[in-house]
Amino acid sequence: LADRLQSTIQKIKGKGKVSEADVKAMMREVRLALLEADVNFKVVKEFVKNVNERAVGQEVMKSLTPGQQVIKVVKEELTKLMGGEESKIAASNRPPTVVMMVGLQGAGKTTTTGKLANLLRKKYNRKPLLAAADIYRPAAIQQLETLGKQLSMPVFSLGDQVSPVEIARKAIEHAKEEHHDYVLIDTAGRLHVDETLMDELKKVKEVAQPDEILLVVDAMTGQDAVNVAESFNEQLGLTGVVLTKLDGDTRGGAALSIRSVTETPIKFVGMGEKLDALETFHPERMASRILGMGDVLTLIEKAQVSVDEDKARELEQKLRTQSFTFDDFLEQLGQVRQMGPLDEILGMLPGANKMKGLKNVQVDDKQIGHIEAIIRSMTKLEKEQPEVINASRKKRIARGSGRSVQEVNRLLKQFDEMKKMMKQMTNMSKGKKKGFKLP
Ligand code: GDP
Ligand code: MG
Repeated sequence: LADRLQSTIQKIKGKGKVSEADVKAMMREVRLALLEADVNFKVVKEFVKNVNERAVGQEVMKSLTPGQQVIKVVKEELTKLMGGEESKIAASNRPPTVVMMVGLQGAGKTTTTGKLANLLRKKYNRKPLLAAADIYRPAAIQQLETLGKQLSMPVFSLGDQVSPVEIARKAIEHAKEEHHDYVLIDTAGRLHVDETLMDELKKVKEVAQPDEILLVVDAMTGQDAVNVAESFNEQLGLTGVVLTKLDGDTRGGAALSIRSVTETPIKFVGMGEKLDALETFHPERMASRILGMGDVLTLIEKAQVSVDEDKARELEQKLRTQSFTFDDFLEQLGQVRQMGPLDEILGMLPGANKMKGLKNVQVDDKQIGHIEAIIRSMTKLEKEQPEVINASRKKRIARGSGRSVQEVNRLLKQFDEMKKMMKQMTNMSKGKKKGFKLP
C-alpha cells in the first residue's frame, strides 16, 4: 500500500498548482492502492468521495502548496477512517476492571493477554490478574501460566474440568480478595465463528459483566479479519479491537476497514511475539505510516526520551571537527540503546521502508555490549588517539574485554570509516554552499 501511494505522492508533491484532473488521477491511484490492500470496497468508495469533496472544493491553506494540501486531506481522511483519536482501555471505578479477550484460534489472544498485562503494569502501574478460561485447546492453560511466570504475575486457573463461566466468576472473586485492579480473561477460540463458541462466550459475558470485550484479530488475514470483527460485534458487542501481527502485515488493509465497518475502535496493535510488543493504536500515526511518511511522531517521542539535545549537538560538532573520540562513541551507543532496537528506529524514518535489506540490519543489545566492553578496555590515550593502538595494545584490549583481536580490529576499522565518512559529508555540504559541483 505504502509503495503505491508513495509514488503517487511523489508525483503530486512538487506541484505548485494542482488541477482537478491531477486530483482525479491521484484518487484513482489511491483507490486502487486501497483495494489492493484489501480494504473493504464500501469503505474505499466512501473514502474517495470524502477526499474528492474536500480536495477539489476549498480548504486553502497559505502555508501549503495545493499538492501538499491534497496529501493533507488524504492523511486526515485516513486518520478519520481509523477512528480519529486514540482510544483508551476501560478503567472501572469499581475495580477490578474486567477485560474479556475473545477471537478465533491462533489470532493471538493468549499472547496478547500477557502483553496487555505487561503494558498495564508498566505504563499504568496496574496490578492485573490473568485468568485461564480456555479449557479446550491443549496446553492453553499452561501457555498462559508460562507467560505469567515470565512476567512474574499470578495466573488464575482451575484446570480444564471446570467450565469457563465458573472460572471467570471465581477469578473475579479472587481478584477482589487479592486487590487486583484488572482481570484479563483469556477465552477459547475456534477455527471459525460458530454458535457453540458464541453461546459460551455469551454466558461468560453474562457472568463476568466485562467492562471491556476486546476482539483479538490477525491483521494478516485482511478482509477476513473485518468479517470476523463484524460477527463478533453482532453477537457480543465489542468495546475494542486488538490487531495482532501488524509486524508481518505490509498492507494495512484490516486497520483501515475494521473501524468503519464495525464502529469499534482499534485500541492496541501487536508488533511482534515478545511480551513488550504491544502498542497503543494511534490512528494519525498509522495514517502517516501508510502514506510512507514514516512514523515521525513516534520517532521523535522516542528520541526525546533518550537523547539529550545539547549532547547531540555537541557530538555533531565533534564529528565535524574530527575531535570525535571513542569516549564520544561510547556515549552515543548508550543513547542508541535507550532508543530501542536500531532496525525499529530505522523503520520509522520516512522512506526507510524502501531501503533494501533493512530487515537485515540488526544491531542487537548483545553486539552493542561487546563494543562497549572493548572501548572500556582502552586507555585514555587509546580512546583519544586510536592511531597509537598497535598489535600488543590490541591484544591487551582484547584480553581485557573478553573479545577477540579480530573484533577489536573490526571496531577500529568501523570507527575509522565513520570518521572518514563524516569528513566527506562535511566537505560535501561545504562544497554545496560554495556552489561547487559535486562529483
Ligand atoms: P490464540 O490461539 O488466539 O490464543 O493465539 P496465541 O496467543 O497462542 O498466538 C498464536 C501465535 O501468534 C503465536 O505463535 C504467537 O507468538 C503469535 N503472535 C501473537 N501476536 C503476534 C504479533 O503481534 N506478531 C507476531 N509476529 N506474532 C504474534
Ligand atoms: Mg490461546
